[in-house]
Amino acid sequence: TTRTTKADPTGDVRLTGIAKTYGAFTAVHPLDLTVPQGSFFALLGASGCGKTTTLRMIAGLEEPSSGTVSLGDQDVTALPPYKRPVNTVFQSYALFPHLDIFENVAFGLRRRGLKSVKKQVEEMLELVQLGEQARKKPHQLSGGQQQRVAVARALINHPKVLLLDEPLGALDLKLRRQMQLELKRIQTEVGITFIHVTHDQEEAMTMADTVAVMNAGRVEQLGAPTDLYENPRTTFVANFLGTSNFIEAEVDSKSGDEIVLKAGGGKLVLPGARCSAPASTGGRVLAGVRPEKISLTHADDAGEIPVGRNRITGRIADSSFIGVSTQYVVDSPVCSDFEVYAQNIDRDPRLVPGAEVVLHWNPAHTFGLDASQDAD
Ligand code: ATP
Repeated sequence: TTRTTKADPTGDVRLTGIAKTYGAFTAVHPLDLTVPQGSFFALLGASGCGKTTTLRMIAGLEEPSSGTVSLGDQDVTALPPYKRPVNTVFQSYALFPHLDIFENVAFGLRRRGLKSVKKQVEEMLELVQLGEQARKKPHQLSGGQQQRVAVARALINHPKVLLLDEPLGALDLKLRRQMQLELKRIQTEVGITFIHVTHDQEEAMTMADTVAVMNAGRVEQLGAPTDLYENPRTTFVANFLGTSNFIEAEVDSKSGDEIVLKAGGGKLVLPGARCSAPASTGGRVLAGVRPEKISLTHADDAGEIPVGRNRITGRIADSSFIGVSTQYVVDSPVCSDFEVYAQNIDRDPRLVPGAEVVLHWNPAHTFGLDASQDAD
């Protein structure tokens, strides 16, 4: 984003060959990663993929087996957590139950021996919109409010980097959504680098400007949320961020910047730039398309749709109405359970299980992956 490119490069968090092993088990394989100063960065992955371990190595709570952690031009690998210009917010908030909200936030300043803390604490409480709650105890606040106290308490020390370890994990869905926007607002306002660990893809996509998708101790792909969603380079990323249909295909030819694929007797087309697999004629490619990119037309009305441009015939196997959209499963010669999400504007009542249909989509919405991967 413009904010990260403008930022001072001396504040970047840089991991170089950082790795963590526990005996014979490798939790994090040697990893190189740069988090630009001022960015909202998410480490996203399923339980056990190594994201918390990576975060803890940045915090200094876990000693790396190899590699270095630097902050700007300072190598902090050997520094204990409290000497790093970094603060962590945990899922469990870890507020002091006997202190009121003001004193919880003031804690870091008082520990450093500061006497006049009032102005700073009040500003910080305003930032997290808890100005009215200063004299309450933590147990008198909601989960979301307690979470904001934890953020204020961490930010008052002006860390260069704020680490957030599943900070919204304990909140219900509605509150989580509110807090996602709230944390995003706070980050934009203070401009401090946030590194956020989560297993929730929607959360990472909503909040972060850069997401690193982790799988089995490695970063599988790194990019802006839209880029990861539109151009996944592996089936893991395609499946982890949303749903995807995959068609096993053979490269027929290349013309200009388009690749033509053969699948199930028909042809598919995709832009060359969206194919991350080597596409030599006769080679195999896994073509992917997101369920919401597909149009579904009853076969009786499909005469106008040109043959040979991402047009597939099939039969509806199942449909579920979910209000704003209907999710269809379609059996076709190229993919046995094609998923299609259709918005319910002008819903066609003939689109019921058993109906013959034609699926079609814009070639620009197709991506090509290395076919040696497992589509599941
Ligand atoms: P979660 O969301 O469940 O916390 P995670 O992606 O954050 O998952 P980590 O906590 O980083 O995963 O753990 C990565 C792997 O390392 C896991 O398989 C975990 O069992 C293992 N692991 C973590 N800490 C230790 C330890 N102290 N000793 C042995 N194995 C560990």
